[in-house]
Amino acid sequence: MMRQDVYCAFCSTKRKIYTKKHSGLINIVISLFMAILTSLIVYQDLDIRMSIVLGFYLALSEIFIHLRWRMSLICHECGFDPILYNKNPELVANKVKLQLEKRKLDPNSYLKPKLKIPIKILDKNINKVTIKKNISDTQSLFSPPSA
Ligand SMILES: [Zn+2]
Repeated sequence: MMRQDVYCAFCSTKRKIYTKKHSGLINIVISLFMAILTSLIVYQDLDIRMSIVLGFYLALSEIFIHLRWRMSLICHECGFDPILYNKNPELVANKVKLQLEKRKLDPNSYLKPKLKIPIKILDKNINKVTIKKNISDTQSLFSPPSA
């Protein structure tokens, strides 16, 4: 329930992401328990300063859960980050290029399944279509008109 299968928008690799973005009731209860425990250990009693420790534990759990969710969104194969892509697509393109170059140099990547990168295939098709169109244009210019 906390993890969900998704496909990378760039390389179509299947992976799991965390769906939980913020801390819930169980995290609050655990933080409260830890604050009481800390208060009993440090002050030997339930002290009002326990609330400061409780706030610290709540912030820590929120930061941890949010960072875990955010890091799970980034593809481990190609480095594509969908949230950053909405804000700055060029930065994501550079990061993906770096990740793919790093992957090329890594000998372990030869054992992994090949990535389905859409841009290379698209560029080849565009070139083939434009070349074919140019050839057909020149042929139509130099071929004798059919009667
Ligand atoms: Zn990917």
